[in-house]
Amino acid sequence: LLSGTAAFIYVTQRERNPGPQLPHDPSKKTIVILGSGWGATSLLKTLDTTEYNVVVISPKNYFLFTPLLPSVALGTLSPRSILQPTRYLARHKSREVRVIEAEAKSVDPINKTVTFEDDSEIKGQTAHTTIPYDYLVYAVGAEVQTFGIPGVQEKACFMKEMADAEKMQRRFKDCIETAGFPGQSDSEIDRLLHVVVVGGGPTGIEVSGEIHDFLEDDLKSWYPELAGRVRISLVEALPSVLPMFSKQLIDYTESTFKASKIQVLTKTMVKEIKDDAVVLQMPDKSIQEVPCGMVVWAGGNKGRKITQDLMAQFPSVQTNRRGITVDDHLRMVGVPSSSIFAIGDCTSTSYAPTAQVASQQGAYLARVFTQIAKRDKLEGKLKELEDKKAMTLKEEEKTALVGEEEGVKGQIAKLKLRPFHYSHQGSLAYIGSDKAIADLPFLNGNIATGGVTTYLFWRSAYLSTLFSLRNRVLVANDWLITKIFGRDLSR
Ligand code: NAD
Repeated sequence: LLSGTAAFIYVTQRERNPGPQLPHDPSKKTIVILGSGWGATSLLKTLDTTEYNVVVISPKNYFLFTPLLPSVALGTLSPRSILQPTRYLARHKSREVRVIEAEAKSVDPINKTVTFEDDSEIKGQTAHTTIPYDYLVYAVGAEVQTFGIPGVQEKACFMKEMADAEKMQRRFKDCIETAGFPGQSDSEIDRLLHVVVVGGGPTGIEVSGEIHDFLEDDLKSWYPELAGRVRISLVEALPSVLPMFSKQLIDYTESTFKASKIQVLTKTMVKEIKDDAVVLQMPDKSIQEVPCGMVVWAGGNKGRKITQDLMAQFPSVQTNRRGITVDDHLRMVGVPSSSIFAIGDCTSTSYAPTAQVASQQGAYLARVFTQIAKRDKLEGKLKELEDKKAMTLKEEEKTALVGEEEGVKGQIAKLKLRPFHYSHQGSLAYIGSDKAIADLPFLNGNIATGGVTTYLFWRSAYLSTLFSLRNRVLVANDWLITKIFGRDLSR
């Protein structure tokens, strides 16, 4: 216990009081990282910054642990617990990493510059700046795909950013409090208490599961007259939910939802979202208007405008509508001198655009940059030897320099960059009622269980994936508080 406490104190103090850093050095190359999500953060965590000046530009000055966002939306976790300021990570690198809170607006891949802007609330104006880079790591992620369906952008709650989770929490509690206002018709109360979740991908499934838990664990105790009337409907255009999971896990999810009284409507498409209803195209193509109090939109993602603009500069090779095409070393295809690497949800690869893929790509790039720094050093040495050789007149000295040159060339030849290889560690989704589904390749199969084992399993899996000890402590503490005292119902 004593050594555990000592280790805890040592780690927390080291995290809190990082040592001095080397300053930016004009003789070193500059890496600009756009983004602070899974790919960018994983890169920053493992990158050796000794040989580079690093600048991170992102509209959010933090990393958001997205798998636990639905838990924030329902008040199981508090928002701060799943945010990690990017500066915490940056401050622990050997050489200073500049973190700029701003939105990148355009990239000039020929002149190797990036332009970004900051909408300063204090100054009340927008500031534009352009900076040069030697290497750009393009990791800007994606944005919510609305397919241009009327009402989605203005009336639905998304589940992508922290502000979305907070908006959903306010909206859901507003529905409940408004339903409790005396003297309303039964049909109005039923409308307010009907939640429609659109999208049967992992996000929609996890949000539905969390809403159900909130209903069972808390609403039943504190709003007994209303809780029984809350209805959750999950709408999915495809024939089944979770197409990326096996049939066994899909069946398990559907039967769990049935037992939880979550209505699953497959082969059903949302055509419009109105103020008080959602318009559905049913499997028989008929149109139905279904009254509801809140719509959560989890219909998938699409590329950002800056990504489309960047791709448009290479129209003959960047033609994939799903995102940037990269080669097997994650270099953006078509860009001269391999100066742009693209990772995460802004790319189109043969893998699903998941957090796991992005973080493996980030870690891979960190190794690539170490290799590039080694190669640059050796090439510098080679140049020095060549210059020396040109100045030397004595034959035996020349022969020695040629020998040395051969040695350096041999070392450069050995520095082969292996292509990126994704190693799938499995997928996990929480489906509510303390149940989770998992496809785990290392166990050669699918796991679909509930109860204490799963509860501990998915929680420990998520805890171990959190990037910092501080976040692990905060999340574990929130789970404990929620288990003991329930969720906070205040608005
Ligand atoms: P998704 O793209 O996986 O699912 C969106 C779903 O919405 C699709 O099945 C689509 O058919 C449906 N849809 C779209 N428009 C519709 C409409 N008008 N009416 C009805 N249905 C409609 O999106 P996601 O769930 O946000 O996931 C995005 C990515 O993140 C995926 O790669 C996913 O694997 C990953 N992810 C993984 C986890 C996890 O592993 N636990 C959690 C969240 C996200």
